[in-house]
This record gives sequence, C-alpha cells and structure tokens, in this order.
Amino acid sequence: MQATMSFDIPVEYLREAESIPSFWVTSLEEIAARLDADVSKGSVGVLGTSAGGRPIEFVVYGNARAGRGTTTFSGALGCKDIRAYLGPDHAKRVYMAIGGVHPGEFEGIVGIVNLIAVLETGADLRGKPWPDLLAAAQALDRIVLVPVTNVDGRARMAPRMLPHRGTDNAIYQFFGTGGWAPGRNIGWPACKRNIPLDFSTCAFPGGYPNDAGVNLAHDDFFGAGRQPETEALFALTARERPDLILNMHTGAPPRNFYTRMLRPFTEPLLVPVFEDLYRAIHTRLAVAGLQSSADPALEADPAQARPSVFNMNSALSLHCGALSVTIEAPCHAFSGTDRTGKVVACDPDATLDAQLLCHEEAMKFLIAHGGRAAWGPVREETG
Ligand SMILES: [Zn+2]
Repeated sequence: MQATMSFDIPVEYLREAESIPSFWVTSLEEIAARLDADVSKGSVGVLGTSAGGRPIEFVVYGNARAGRGTTTFSGALGCKDIRAYLGPDHAKRVYMAIGGVHPGEFEGIVGIVNLIAVLETGADLRGKPWPDLLAAAQALDRIVLVPVTNVDGRARMAPRMLPHRGTDNAIYQFFGTGGWAPGRNIGWPACKRNIPLDFSTCAFPGGYPNDAGVNLAHDDFFGAGRQPETEALFALTARERPDLILNMHTGAPPRNFYTRMLRPFTEPLLVPVFEDLYRAIHTRLAVAGLQSSADPALEADPAQARPSVFNMNSALSLHCGALSVTIEAPCHAFSGTDRTGKVVACDPDATLDAQLLCHEEAMKFLIAHGGRAAWGPVREETG
C-alpha cells in the first residue's frame, strides 16, 4: 500500500503559519469534528470510501429530486428533452460544491466549511453574517457539499496552513505536485505525466493523488480502473442530478492573482450558461474589490476565461448534465501580482470573502436563470 510509505519532507517545509485564524479549518480531523458538532439543519453522510480506505463526508440540505426520469442523460440529449432524464422534479434547483479534489488547495475547503457554518447559523466562522447568501440558499431546493473530495491526499499533508513565503511558491508547490527530491519539485503540469504515480519514484507525491497515485481531476473516467472517489461522485451526482457544481481549487494566475473561474470543456449548449455565470461571479467579485480592478467590463469578460482540458468537470457534466466549473483561488502561502505587475497582498480574510461570494452569486444565478431544465434542451413530445 503506497499510503504507508514514509516520505522525505524537510522539517522547514512542515512549518505551519504562526497564527492560524479560527475560520481556517482544513484538516480532516477538524472538519469531521465541526460537522459532528455543528450540522443540525443539514445532514452529514459518507458518500464513499477513498482508495486508502478513508470515508468521504458530505453534507446535504433541503429536499432531493424525487423519482427518476425515463432515460439516460445522453438519451435526454438525443430526444431533445432534458426533463426525460431529470424526472418529475426537473424544476427543482440543486446546487453542489466540492472542495479538496486537490487537497493541498486549502482555500476551497475553508470556503465550503464556512458555507456550512452560514447555512447552519447565518454567519461564517468569523461571526460575519451572510443574510443574502442564506436567503439564496433557502430559495434553492437542495444543496450538496463535499468539503474534501481527495481525503487520502489531505491525510498525507500535515500542515493546516503554510506560512506566507513572499512570491516564492516552491514549498507550496512541493505539497501540491510533490517532489522527486526536496528542492526538485515534480511541478505543474509535469505532475500529470504520471497517473497513476508510483510513490517509490519520488520523495513526496504531493497532495494531488489519492493513495492509488491518481490525480482525481484526471482519472481514467471511462476505464475499468476508475477510482473509488470518482465512483462515489458519479453515484452521488446520478442520485442528486445537480444543476450546477462549483469545483473549488487554488491556482489563481500568477500575473492576475485573484479568484478566477476557468472555462470548462463541456457541452456546447452549456457554453452560454457558463458565460453568464462567469459574468455574474466576476462582476460581483470586482465590485467587492476582490479582483485586480473594480472594472467589470475588464474582469467579467468571459473571453478571458482560461480554457480547461477534458477533466473531472467534463466527466461530471457529461455524467449528470450539471454545469460543472472550476474556480481557482489565490493561495495563502505566497503572492502573485495584479494585472499591472504589483505584488498582491496575501489576505486570508479576503480569500474567504471571495469564496463565500462565489457561492452566493452562483446560488443567485441558479435562482435567476433556472437550472438544467431551463437551460434545455426542452421539447414537447409530438405525435
Ligand atoms: Zn487544483
């Protein structure tokens, strides 16, 4: 079992931030304890077991779609009526968010844990109230949240929060992509060259892979060796048939070091929906002072969205019809620059605000634009 291997991690790399804010909840133990103690309006479940045998916890709110459709998702596209897949509850709005697919990317985990606090108490773990977010959530039928998807990767990485190291991201990258040796990171995108990664070939495999060595974002989605985490997500999304999935990562562009949404490789029908969502979220972030400029015409232009390759979002989308998008946060452990080249200050508080605003705006989008049944295709049966 790869998981039991010992790794060669320099002590300095394992040093945590000197003061970790109380809202910064990222370890599996902390999250499990919080879900146990704090969740009463929602319900906590286990959606599956990782390659390393760990439970993957999730939280749901509201009422799921009841009943089943009469055909597969592909069949629904073929007969040009998505309702034939979604079933009698096609008009319900189902919101889903997942964190920690890459569990060294803590920001999205912190965001979902704080979102759960808002749904339970109206305030995040700082005590800051989010009345509009709560109202948006209450207007939806169902919310499905997975704080940490790759629990094996999270268990492999000891620190809860890394110290900020200026513009140097080398140690942070070691925890993400892993290192062939200390000082020689596997690096990005080279880390995607070996899936599964044989842990005996490196000093530390990083947080990307599960214990079978697979970066879940790039699983063999149609293969016989599909990973249990992917199977669990497929089963969950087939059951829930979400309209929208926010897949929260850390990886803001180095020269525009702000929260940015990526363009998914997805169904053509969903492209205009994605572009409207992109405009909504980036406008909100720009107006809130959480982009490089306050100018929505610049920040919220979907032509700027960096395109993704075929990955987990594509697979989830083509599995259950959801629009599934990645949002890349700036990292707490180093700084990039804004559009003008000025180094961006590191502010975990602002990062949490951006996370919660993304969820709020995405929920409002779902209320205003309907869900998959409104996005189509929808055709009445004739003759
Ligand atoms: Zn990532």
